[in-house]
Amino acid sequence: MTRLDFLGAINEIGSSSILVDSGKSKFILDFGGNTNTTPSTPPIQPKEKVDAVFLSHAHFDHCGSLPLITKPNPGIPVYSAPCTPELTEMLLYDSVKINIQEMGNIKGDNFSLPFTNEDVIQTLRRFKRVEYRKPFNFKDSKVNFFDAGHIPGSSMIHFDYGADKKKILYTGDFQSIDSRLLKKFDDNVPNTEILITESTYSDKDHPSRESQEKELIDIVTTTIESGGIAMIPSFAVGRAAELLLVLEQRGIDYPVYMDGMAKKATTIINNNNTLLNDKDGLSNVMKKVKFVAGNKHRNKIIRNPCAIITTSGMMDGGPINFYMSRLYNDESSSVTFTGWQAPNSVGKSLLDNGRYIGQGMDVESKVLVKRLDFSAHVGRQGILDFINKINPEKIFCVHGDDTIKFANELTGKGFEAYGPNKDKSSFTI
Ligand SMILES: [Zn+2]
Repeated sequence: MTRLDFLGAINEIGSSSILVDSGKSKFILDFGGNTNTTPSTPPIQPKEKVDAVFLSHAHFDHCGSLPLITKPNPGIPVYSAPCTPELTEMLLYDSVKINIQEMGNIKGDNFSLPFTNEDVIQTLRRFKRVEYRKPFNFKDSKVNFFDAGHIPGSSMIHFDYGADKKKILYTGDFQSIDSRLLKKFDDNVPNTEILITESTYSDKDHPSRESQEKELIDIVTTTIESGGIAMIPSFAVGRAAELLLVLEQRGIDYPVYMDGMAKKATTIINNNNTLLNDKDGLSNVMKKVKFVAGNKHRNKIIRNPCAIITTSGMMDGGPINFYMSRLYNDESSSVTFTGWQAPNSVGKSLLDNGRYIGQGMDVESKVLVKRLDFSAHVGRQGILDFINKINPEKIFCVHGDDTIKFANELTGKGFEAYGPNKDKSSFTI
């Protein structure tokens, strides 16, 4: 019998983690953080020692608490696809920095960090690189990584324990359409009896990329032609690179700037360009984009019409706030969000009420505000198509706001499906 303990992202998004205990080995799949709190909330800590971590991708909600699992398990390997170690390194150091700043603001000097830069260094030493479709044996399982099409290095992970145990596939986060940055996920996976699937958009399909790209270009063009600044708040990892490709390949002939953590993330991604849809596309665009450094430079570039891709995606930090504090009253400028805005985010307030609340300000904004959908997650129909294709014996729905409802819906379609939750988070399979 194998046991699955769902340690986070159960009926919510954040702190993804699952313990897979086959009786002979104990694997951790992801160990993320939930940024609703400072410091971020980690998954439930497993009671027993574990043998390895398998990391699906370098988003904070999947990797953000890694030092908290490697520290109590000295020497354990952390397996991931290329690009993931470098991006994880960037996110973990940033997390330590934020914790020092914000916890210091709240508590003065009297606080202890959940993990330190030294812990991050030790964690990074544990990384072992895995190539897609190159299965390897670890303990009692054959492990195989498949491209999940979500961000560069994102993986679906398959565990084959031989004839006497169920074969498991963990999807991590995945995407079923091509974008300018990445090809869609590799759905040609081996026989799977137990599917653990993300369910972020189990109730919704996304508009086509084509339509969203056209809208983005319309807004940027109109803004620039009226003399304004087209601000594009962006998530650092993957999204910024895709937006850069869209602006360039759709012919925006004005200066395009990149700022904040997006610069480093996009540089790391470009250094791993064999993972990309078009190996040379991003490096060509990177030759043209201008990186912004420091407030003096920021003040200079907003004197003339331009487009700025900058973190953070929900305006909760990063240089976007510098730009907004200068431009909130400028009718000719625009803010285009390209993804979901969390309920208490600065971006959500701007989107819903037209108020900019940041940098110590609480003001009515005159900039044009629009939200588009460049989601890197599979939509509802894509999840259903994948489930039908692999036809598993059991499905566990995680990483969504309403996974129990989705599991019930799948049960109604004839599948055996579960939405792990706080009352029932451990299963034998
Ligand atoms: Zn993700």
